[in-house]
Amino acid sequence: MNTHDFIAREDKVCPPTYTPLPVVLCKGKGSWLWDIEGKKYLDMMTAYSAVSFGHAHPRLLKTLNEQAQKLTLTSRAFHTDKLAPLLEKICALAGFDMGIPTNTGVEGVETAIKVIRRWGYETKGITSNEAEIIVAKNNFHGRTTTVISFSTELEYQRGFGPLTPGFKAIPFGDARALKEAITPNTCAFLVEPIQGEAGIIVPPKGWLKEVREICTKNNVLLILDEVQSGLGRTGKMFAFQHENIQPDGLILGKALGGGLLPISLFLSRREILSLMTPGSHGSTFGGNPLACAVGYEALSLLEEEHLDQRSAELGAYMKSSLEKIQSPLIKDIRGLGLWIGVEFHKDLVTGREVCEAMRLKGVLSKDTRKTVVRFAPPLTIKKEEIDFALEVFTETLHEIEKAKQLR
Ligand code: PLP
Repeated sequence: MNTHDFIAREDKVCPPTYTPLPVVLCKGKGSWLWDIEGKKYLDMMTAYSAVSFGHAHPRLLKTLNEQAQKLTLTSRAFHTDKLAPLLEKICALAGFDMGIPTNTGVEGVETAIKVIRRWGYETKGITSNEAEIIVAKNNFHGRTTTVISFSTELEYQRGFGPLTPGFKAIPFGDARALKEAITPNTCAFLVEPIQGEAGIIVPPKGWLKEVREICTKNNVLLILDEVQSGLGRTGKMFAFQHENIQPDGLILGKALGGGLLPISLFLSRREILSLMTPGSHGSTFGGNPLACAVGYEALSLLEEEHLDQRSAELGAYMKSSLEKIQSPLIKDIRGLGLWIGVEFHKDLVTGREVCEAMRLKGVLSKDTRKTVVRFAPPLTIKKEEIDFALEVFTETLHEIEKAKQLR
């Protein structure tokens, strides 16, 4: 069976909620992926930043295998010996007291929303069912019905109403808009410190610090969604550390599972999370010992191999190399650490065209919001591998320019 046959087979049984590039992958090792025809690709996308340790990291695989032989799932009807060590470690790293374990990123967000609202009613004293959460325009926090309710992308909502009320969207990076949007019913500001799916949008310097001050002044919780930006991706362990602030709650996911399995967390302070009582929340797989063991090992790897620093150094190298590329197609280059978006002039080329052409040359990435190509390689990537991606990207752009007679 060839690539075409496999895609046709999948299309018959799986509805088209994605538009994947026409490649059928069957193997991954380190920074590389292989398709069923034996062609090798550099992974510059890492499952939307979730494969930060590269594919099949030996240490993570060892932990996975060892734990799989011992104990994988009990549900939280019982205690296991793996949940406390993971939560202790991540709380120490991120500056929190407690955490609720879930599975996917959006479940972490849903958990945060429940906790925030409960805090709003029981601690802040908001009238029942009146709590408001402020979010940013162009946010991406996942795909459940509540979470799409505060998306500003209409396509994410079309045909899925009625939507969940209680959210208000303000422009990203605008501190004054936040101040003006706060009412006595506001319980939290929920925001990505850098907007990933919106096209790797880095807010103005100092904005997050100002946001912290506004939230504190108004008794509003600052909840950061670092599902994508967290765990070294931006060159610091957490993106909020670039501004030396401490949020009131933090959502993590993606890379925490080492690229092997899903695990997410909502972390906060004791007085906030203590409001969650038996029966208020739960998940059969949340906090399972297999995911907790892998998550613990992933955090140890991050720390011991200083992958956050590596991300900062290699990211700076990659960004400055991208900035040297002379191309009329490029409109903007932005990002932090190994998380860089290149935006193209929309009337000249789409991100999709660039990704399709790079794929033919052995580099995989994915466009976002049509005009942006993201580069989010494993944090373990080697400099030579980055050079290969840069070479392919440059060559691709020059070929497109020639084909469009821009050169
Ligand atoms: N939050 C952010 C910032 C994300 O980027 C994503 C996924 O891209 C999510 C939440 C949702 O994560 P998941 O797809 O694991 O539900």
